[in-house]
Amino acid sequence: MNDLETLLAVFAHPDDETYRAGGTLALLARRGVRVWVLCTTRGQAGIPEMAPDEAGRVRQAELKCACCALGIEPPRFLDYRDGTLAQVDEDEAVAQVVRVVQELRPQVLLTWPPDGLSGHPDHVAVSRWAGEACRRASDPMALYHIVMPRSLAQTLGMTHLHTVPDEEITLTVDVGPAWEQKLAAIRCHRSQMGSSPILDAPEEKQRLFLGGEYFRLHSSRRGREGQDILGFWLGMDAGV
Ligand SMILES: [Zn+2]
Repeated sequence: MNDLETLLAVFAHPDDETYRAGGTLALLARRGVRVWVLCTTRGQAGIPEMAPDEAGRVRQAELKCACCALGIEPPRFLDYRDGTLAQVDEDEAVAQVVRVVQELRPQVLLTWPPDGLSGHPDHVAVSRWAGEACRRASDPMALYHIVMPRSLAQTLGMTHLHTVPDEEITLTVDVGPAWEQKLAAIRCHRSQMGSSPILDAPEEKQRLFLGGEYFRLHSSRRGREGQDILGFWLGMDAGV
């Protein structure tokens, strides 16, 4: 029986954890929650000028660095190839996620929303896997999706992202108190810096893009407390 407050975040690529959830993960860890990231690939396709296996090794190390910066547990990996998640045997993939769930016994699962936020097919696939693992798990869990409020995406001109109406957000986290940790985690993902011009943006824009993290409680099989267990763990009155 696991009495420890535990969250498992299920993602597709090293760096999925940092930009839209890293501050929250750091704040949870500070409050004593055990936070695990299960990364289902090693991001082998993420460094175009490098051979896939070598890129996977580099990005695996970058994720370890980021988890350390965020103060969370070392990352876990599945052995899928970056870019292939939509094509793999889904039953087998879900079974692998379920095995990790059975081992770590989280009360909360966190993942991408069904549209993957960016629409990346790998994100869409892991969102499905996590949802199915949540349904199959013997212990009741709450499932949260990382989402982007429509108004913020409009303000930032990020028209490529899938957004949700602001009123569908069930938890908004001001990650100001974990700002330095989040930036440190972003810097860990050195091989991906070229694709994130946000670090060169004025601090005001950085804060707008990175300073808030947004979640939608998708389903909860937990009791009354589980209505918004993440907000509860963070010591927030989320008003759900
Ligand atoms: Zn990704």
